[in-house]
Amino acid sequence: MDIGTHVRAPLAKPNELVPSRYAVRVGEIEVLVISDGVLPLPTVMLGHNAAPADRAAWLDEMFLPREAFDWSLNVVVVHSGEQTILIDAGLGFDPDLNLPRAGQLIMRLEAAGINLASVTDVVLTHMHMDHVGGLLVDGVKEALRPDLRIHVAAAELAFWEAPDFSLTSMPQGFPDALRSAAKRFATAYRDQLRTFENEHEVAPGVVVQRTGGHTPGHSIVRVASGGDRLTFAGDAVFTVGFDHPDWHNGFEHDPEEAARVRVKLLQELAATGEQLVATHLPFPSVGRVAAEGETFRWVPAFWDY
Ligand SMILES: [Zn+2]
Repeated sequence: MDIGTHVRAPLAKPNELVPSRYAVRVGEIEVLVISDGVLPLPTVMLGHNAAPADRAAWLDEMFLPREAFDWSLNVVVVHSGEQTILIDAGLGFDPDLNLPRAGQLIMRLEAAGINLASVTDVVLTHMHMDHVGGLLVDGVKEALRPDLRIHVAAAELAFWEAPDFSLTSMPQGFPDALRSAAKRFATAYRDQLRTFENEHEVAPGVVVQRTGGHTPGHSIVRVASGGDRLTFAGDAVFTVGFDHPDWHNGFEHDPEEAARVRVKLLQELAATGEQLVATHLPFPSVGRVAAEGETFRWVPAFWDY
């Protein structure tokens, strides 16, 4: 056996306690989850339609603090054929938001040996700042290739021309920051944007599908190869959504539709048994969904390391 061909020299000296990346193979397609960091957010955002006592009970059951806890912020890189596809781009940086532990994507892409110039496509699940902000960091646009394609639902782009926040429940300052980030993004990347209506095959076995709900153009990404399947659910599913799929997340622009989207997706994933990855599930967020009566159970994957 030639061991040498299986050993790669480390590309960079590790400078973090954990490398914050985890790879999964789906048939011929490689899926790499990279953490952008964490977002400390108030717990009321988990379910602003739930009774405070019910929220407190769930937090106690999860051994989580009552006031605020760190949400994961996961980004995915998919290698299919000749294409390198970045799905979402993390938070980037906003001096007005007190979120100093997120925005690590660019550094962690480099640490993973992924050069920005090698990215052929970006897929956006939606245009909230924690999904597009990384593309607005100084120097990033210049480092990306000029023929980069950024795939986003037409409904999403249209929504952010005059976004409605009336049904959301966000901390102070967030609506303005999100509005401004989406606007800056749409302007900066106007020439790279490739819109789709309901579904688009980005690369062989990599299909983006619009779900709506969280935002009107919110989309999920289906990865399928050689009989294996994985869904990247973006913000259709949060940690609390398995026990309480009907709780309204504070970032949802149409919370009732978002809950319908979530339940339908979780039912489907429970039936197919395919792997799920989602933006705000605990890193690396690779697992499966089991149905339990009217609710669901998250079944984390056994790490392959
Ligand atoms: Zn998000």
